[in-house]
Amino acid sequence: MVAVRLYSLHSISSVDLEPEGGAVFAGERALKAAARVSAKGSSIISQGSLKYGPAKTLRVSAMGKGVWLSGRGLPRRLYTGEIIFSAERGLLKIINTVQLETYLAGVVTGEAQDLSNPETYKAQAVAARTYTLNHMKNHSGQGYNLCDSTHCQLYSGLGTVSAKARAACDSTRGEMLLYQGKPAATYYHSICGGRTEALTYVWPFENKPYLVSVQDGPAGKPYCSIAPNFRWKTQIYYTGLTRLARSAGWITPDEEARGLRVAAWAPSGRAAELEMNTGARRVRISATDFYHGVGRRAGWQAVRSSFFKILSAKDYVILDGIGGGHGVGMCQWGAEGMGRAGFKYREILRHYYPGTETGYD
Ligand SMILES: [Zn+2]
Ligand SMILES: [Zn+2]
Repeated sequence: MVAVRLYSLHSISSVDLEPEGGAVFAGERALKAAARVSAKGSSIISQGSLKYGPAKTLRVSAMGKGVWLSGRGLPRRLYTGEIIFSAERGLLKIINTVQLETYLAGVVTGEAQDLSNPETYKAQAVAARTYTLNHMKNHSGQGYNLCDSTHCQLYSGLGTVSAKARAACDSTRGEMLLYQGKPAATYYHSICGGRTEALTYVWPFENKPYLVSVQDGPAGKPYCSIAPNFRWKTQIYYTGLTRLARSAGWITPDEEARGLRVAAWAPSGRAAELEMNTGARRVRISATDFYHGVGRRAGWQAVRSSFFKILSAKDYVILDGIGGGHGVGMCQWGAEGMGRAGFKYREILRHYYPGTETGYD
């Protein structure tokens, strides 16, 4: 079982419940129609088909198909298992205890939604299962295991679970990726671009012997070259770059970005360090910080990886890039390419995490 905090990025004071089919119970009573659960201070009340509270908590058992949750500003989502509602200072805290394999089917659906090969789905299922078991203590001080955002692992319930994701979880049930008998750190990303990156080049203070740079398929025709966004180009004006660099604290508020170049390359071919020219001085920025900084601060979705060259013009630069994501561990589109080429999921995992093997805890 895994205890997941639902709607962890939302501050909400009420949520609507609708049973899907029968077999949903609130406390001892069957929930037959819609009800609204609200936080009042540190108490829970419920209105609609269920009159309840004020009480410290409300426990809902959603057997069978489950219960839909929705509300103002909330995506409507289907959950099964046990859901415990509690309140803190007028806000709801919703914790869903669900079977691990059910949860994984939801996670894999989201992670693999653009992919199609069954072996790729199995590799993704083993990676996500291992990741989950490695992170069960992420929120142990807060009364649950994982939150449902990308802070831990994105989980959007079961309303859209794909048959492929469920089949992949079923057929690999309990199977994990191990290194020297212990669960491995199963990082993954979208598209490596031809060569994965060693962990230490992305997070300098970490190192794992199986998170090394591997060539992703034949030279000139990497497994992930089937990805729709394999190549990308982004134009960034110095005015926009200046705003970004100021807000990231790379330059001071009275400095301007007037040039950008790659100052150092990682062995995989990715940019490792960039140099920004302000006219008066040159500022070094790690390519990882740049990639994350542009994504988070500008929301441009423009810099898809740190695998790029920089072409300079008078008022702007063009990033000419390949791949998507940090590049560490399994390349999801490469796994798709390997699956289509006839590789089995254990071969796919061994390719991206050399020296590991699958097994059971
Ligand atoms: Zn979390
Ligand atoms: Zn790849």
